[in-house]
Amino acid sequence: MKIAFIGLGNMGGGMAANLVKAGHEVRAFDLSDEAASRARDNGAQTFGSVREAVDGAEAVVTMLPNGAIVKQVYSADVIGHAPTTALLLDCSTIDVASAREVAAAATAAGYDMVDAPVSGGIAAANGGTLTFMVGGTDPAFARAEPILARMGKAVIHAGQAGSGQAAKICNNMILGATMIATCEAFAMANKLGLDGQTFFDIASKASGQTWSMTSYCPVPGVGPTTPADNGYQGGFATALMLKDLKLAMAAAKDAGAQVPMGQRAAELYDAFDKAGNGGLDFSAIIKTL
Ligand code: NAD
Repeated sequence: MKIAFIGLGNMGGGMAANLVKAGHEVRAFDLSDEAASRARDNGAQTFGSVREAVDGAEAVVTMLPNGAIVKQVYSADVIGHAPTTALLLDCSTIDVASAREVAAAATAAGYDMVDAPVSGGIAAANGGTLTFMVGGTDPAFARAEPILARMGKAVIHAGQAGSGQAAKICNNMILGATMIATCEAFAMANKLGLDGQTFFDIASKASGQTWSMTSYCPVPGVGPTTPADNGYQGGFATALMLKDLKLAMAAAKDAGAQVPMGQRAAELYDAFDKAGNGGLDFSAIIKTL
C-alpha cells in the first residue's frame, strides 16, 4: 500500500520504519532534514513537501506536535490534495475540538478519517508495540485497523471522531494524578520510618495498588526497573505529561466536567516543568515531595 507519512520525529520515525518493514511503500515528509534523512535510511522515500508526499497515496498518517499544526497541515496540504479514496489517520495527541474539526472537514471533502492517538513512548513506537485509541466511523475504523496493527500491539475503537483523543487524555489524567498520589505515599511512608521496598510489597498487593507503583515505580531500587533507576532519564517526559494534562483541562472546560484532581495534577506538573524539569521522566516529581 502507498502510505504517506508526515512527521518523522521521535515517535513518527519508528512508526514509519515499521510500515516499511511491513512491506508498505512509505512516502515521507518532515520539515526537518535530519528526520527525513533518518526515514530514508529506514527505507522510506522522502519528498520536498506534504503535497508531493500525499500525491497518489492510499493512506496518509500524521504524527505531529500539536492541534494547530495538524489543522494547518490537513487544511493546506492534505485535504483536496490526497486522493479522496485515501484513508486519513492522525496519530498525534491533540485537543478533542481540533480533532473533530479536522475530521469534519475531511468527511465533508469525501474522505474517511480517524483520530488514532497512541499510548506508549519512543521505545514502543520503535518496537511496534503502541496502543492506538481510535475515533471514527465503523467503516473508517475497519480500514484503519490493519494499518495501525503494523505499528502497535492493540488497536481499540473508542467511538466517533474525537473519541480517540478523549480516551487518551482521560487515561493520562488518571496517570498524572495517580503518579503524584503514589509519589506522595512513598515520600510519606519514608518520613514515617517505613522501608520503601516493604511499603511496595504491601501496597502493591493492597487497595493502594496503582500502575504508577507496580509498573513504573518512582522510587529507585524498588519494584521493576524504571526511569527512576536511570536518574529519571528516558521514559515519558514531564513536558509531554504537562501537554496532555493541559489538553485534558481544556476538554474538561468545554465539556463542563469537574476535574479537581486532574486540575491539581496539572498545576503541580506545570510548576515542576517551570522549575526546569521538563526533560525528566514524569515520575521525577517525587523529588518535590
Ligand atoms: P517530535 O517533536 O519528536 O516530532 C514531531 C515531528 O513533526 C518533528 O520531526 C517536526 O519536524 C515535524 N513537524 C512539525 N511541523 C511539521 C509540518 N508542518 N510538516 C511536517 N513535519 C512537521 O514529537 P514526538 O515525540 O514524535 O511526538 C509526536 C506526537 O506524538 C505528539 O503529538 C506527542 O504528544 C505524541 N506522543 C508522544 C509520545 C512520546 O513519548 N514522545 C508518546 C505518546 C504520544
